[in-house]
Amino acid sequence: MSDVRNLLACKSCKMLFDSEALKEQKLPLSECPQCRGQLTKDWQGYLAVVDFEKSEIAKTMGISKNGKYALKVR
Ligand SMILES: [Zn+2]
Repeated sequence: MSDVRNLLACKSCKMLFDSEALKEQKLPLSECPQCRGQLTKDWQGYLAVVDFEKSEIAKTMGISKNGKYALKVR
């Protein structure tokens, strides 16, 4: 499990990405691989969605894919 401080949040879909993993895949650290939104280090709190279809929070947040999501993105 990687350090939470290495995680970047997407300003659009709020999904979190490990900056080390992005580097390994030669992906830009400025762009969300999911939706092309802007990635930021400025986020707080996170939510791990393991079964979005059964998660009320995921529904509220409009999440339609399992993964880690930032609760607050600035
Ligand atoms: Zn995104």
